[in-house]
This record gives sequence, C-alpha cells and structure tokens, in this order.
Amino acid sequence: MVKSINSRDYNKWRSQFPQENSSIGFVPTMGALHQGHLYLVQQAKRQCSQVVISIFVNPRQFNDKNDLENYPVQLEEDFALLSKEGVDIVLVPSIQEIYPPNDTTSIDMTSYAHLAQGLEGDHRPGHFQGVVDVVSRLLTIVKPQKLYLGKKDYQQLNVLKAMVKKEKFALDVIGVPTQRASSGLALSSRNALLSEEGRVRASNIYEALQCAKASALHGEGLDMACAKGKAVLQAAEGVTEEYFLIANRHTMSINEVGNPEEWVVFCAAHVEGVRLIDNVEVFD
Ligand code: AMP
Repeated sequence: MVKSINSRDYNKWRSQFPQENSSIGFVPTMGALHQGHLYLVQQAKRQCSQVVISIFVNPRQFNDKNDLENYPVQLEEDFALLSKEGVDIVLVPSIQEIYPPNDTTSIDMTSYAHLAQGLEGDHRPGHFQGVVDVVSRLLTIVKPQKLYLGKKDYQQLNVLKAMVKKEKFALDVIGVPTQRASSGLALSSRNALLSEEGRVRASNIYEALQCAKASALHGEGLDMACAKGKAVLQAAEGVTEEYFLIANRHTMSINEVGNPEEWVVFCAAHVEGVRLIDNVEVFD
C-alpha cells in the first residue's frame, strides 16, 4: 500500500538515507494521475533506488481562478494507481507546509527570465514564477538526486533546469518524452474534463503539430510550417487556437529559432472550454 505523508514525516523517512549514498528519484505532480505521470514514475524506478512522488495543486501557478477551481482532484484513485507502480512514498503537503504564512519569498528568476517569456509565459502571467517557487520548495524538502519532468511542458522543463542550476540544487534533471493516447492526444489531467467527442476533437492539436513538423522536415521554412499547422487547427471543429508557434528548443526564442534541428512546435488551444497545450520536437 502506498504511504502518503506530509513534509514532517517525510523528513523522518528521508533521514535514513545519507545524502551521499542515496538515490532518490522525484516526480512532482498536481495529481489526477494518468499514464504520462506513471511513465515518469517508471523511468524513475528504473534509475533510482527510491521513488518519491508529490501531489500538490499549486495555487501560485494558476493565473486563472476558475482554472484552479476546476482542476481535477482524485487522491484515492491516484493512490490506487501509485500502489500498482510500487511507489515508495507520496508526499501530499498542505498549502501551509509549502507556503508558511510568514514566508512570502519568491525565487529570483532574473538570470533566466528569457526562458519564461513568450509561449506560456506570455499567455499565463506569473505562471512560471509559481512553478519555480513550488518546485524549489519541494526540492528543499525531498532532497532527491534526480528530478523527473515531462517534455509535455517543454518550456517548464527549460525554466526548471535553469532554476536548478542557479539555485545550485545538486541533482540531475531528466526530461521524459510525452505520452499520448492512440489518437495522438497528449495525456493530460485536463483531458478528464473533456467529453469523448472533445477528446477526439482535441487530437487535432497533435495532427496540427505533426503537420508543421513534416513541413519543417521537408525544408519548407518556419512560416510555411506554422501556416500549415495552423490550417489543420482552423479546419478542426470545436478547437480554438490560442497560439501556434515554433521556438528554439534551448532558448525558447520565437525570433531567433536557429536551424530546424533546434525547432520545437508549440500549441495552446481550447476545446470545450478546456485549455490544452502540446508540442513536438522537429528532430527528436
Ligand atoms: P502536472 O501534474 O500536470 O503538473 O504534471 C506533472 C509532471 O508530469 C510534469 O513534469 C509534466 O510535464 C509531466 N507530464 C504531464 N503530462 C505528461 C505526458 N502526457 N507525458 C509525459 N509527462 C507528462
């Protein structure tokens, strides 16, 4: 059975593993777990002797109050899934444990602010500040040797890699490929908010990304690749584009994208009022 603990009990558990000799893999999540999360757990299990997953719906990273209120919460189901995966510890901290009322500090992102601009940074003001704040606080509690993050949130992965370096956390960040339904739709906790028809419609996001990727691989250039991808989205009933862009995989710049080898195609779109994001690397 999975052991769900708060940060005080976690500290006790953690103290049995000396920092130098331990091999703890950490998977931070907001719960409503799916096979994408479990794939991160499986990777961590393969490479580490202990695996810790956290479930914490982080209010600081939601710029939209409705989005936070509608975010799916299903702890019992999550524990059942994690039990089957043989996870050692599930950290479920309270808001007060992560954000004590007397501690209003935030991580200084100035030196890597460029990574948090554009794409999600522009469309969700304050989002990445909330993400680096929560992950840095979780890392301070968990003290892992490896941190597992999904490429599904590609910009987040880059921002967090920079945060880990800047804050001198001694750990490796592992970027894990996006897991998809057979339709191509990227697995996401938010898919639970879609009807069956909505999920079929949402799979057009992946079609559009693949279309742009194919165009880029044919050497048709950035503008054509984006135009072709956008056309697929526009033709899809019930899918509203928020952005569809190509950015450099390292710098996240949409102005200086470099060679196609360094391109990632990004999309945010709305289906049945649910905001979905996805991306594909042109060369993976
Ligand atoms: P979340 O619960 O949405 O904050 O996601 C927790 C972690 O799971 C993040 O590192 C995500 O990038 C990762 N993740 C979410 N969906 C997927 C997916 N479909 N494939 C791989 N990783 C994912």
